[in-house]
Amino acid sequence: MSGHLAVIGLGPGDIRCLTPEAEDVLAAAHALYGYGPYLESVPARAGQTRHASDNREERARAAAALRHAALGARVAVVSGGDPGVFAMAAAVCEEIETGPESWRALDVTIVPGITAMLAVAARIGAPLGHDFCTLSLSDNLKPWELIERRLDAAAGAGFVIALYNPISRARPWQFASAIERLRRHLPPSTPVVFGRAVTRPGEQINVVTLDRADTVEADMATLVIVGSRETRVIARPGKLPLVYTPRAAAEVSA
Ligand code: SAH
Repeated sequence: MSGHLAVIGLGPGDIRCLTPEAEDVLAAAHALYGYGPYLESVPARAGQTRHASDNREERARAAAALRHAALGARVAVVSGGDPGVFAMAAAVCEEIETGPESWRALDVTIVPGITAMLAVAARIGAPLGHDFCTLSLSDNLKPWELIERRLDAAAGAGFVIALYNPISRARPWQFASAIERLRRHLPPSTPVVFGRAVTRPGEQINVVTLDRADTVEADMATLVIVGSRETRVIARPGKLPLVYTPRAAAEVSA
């Protein structure tokens, strides 16, 4: 079977964050599949078809792209950030696992991209400089109780925590509830970084302490990094502070 499916990370927004590899694979595609706004950010190319779908239809989009590739085309599915981080690469793998046997013979390439937490971290110093973990606060695909358990475990173990999908119109209370949960484990002075629309127009970076973290407005385009007990803030005159987690952990207990 000659079909080819690429799953491509577009990075956080700014075209300069797109890797040369992603650019090459996008250029070679006959057809692009993805969430509308992501597709719009890819420059138009003659002869290339575009298939936009809703953000919540990941499995259906993956299946449509696989069916198209199985006809022998070069098909690319695009994701914001990295396609393997809360995005399309896992949806494509899931469809291959459960779909027709013939899909297993397709060439599949995953092209990494700069994920939001790395773009946000780079704007403010090095908050992810030591051990960290990542959670999506969306309870669309998992129960809220599991999220709470993971927040407890992560904060209790001393990880810096990057929170994707902190809030949406359909999930209005989850973020405040997560912050409340983290306060059980971490001191009020723990630094919290909010990065909104990083590398895009309207970018905003805010640094607050955990006791004030629920007063900052977060939205669908915001990534939140909650520090550990080790995370430090260097105030600078007239500039954003530098937030960093030292390379060496001082305490044994979290
Ligand atoms: N695959 C994407 C993540 C998809 S989940 C990646 O690797 O970045 C969508 C979440 O990512 C958003 O709710 C937000 O938390 C985060 N996000 C994506 N782009 C962002 C950006 N430019 N600035 C801040 N957060 C962003």
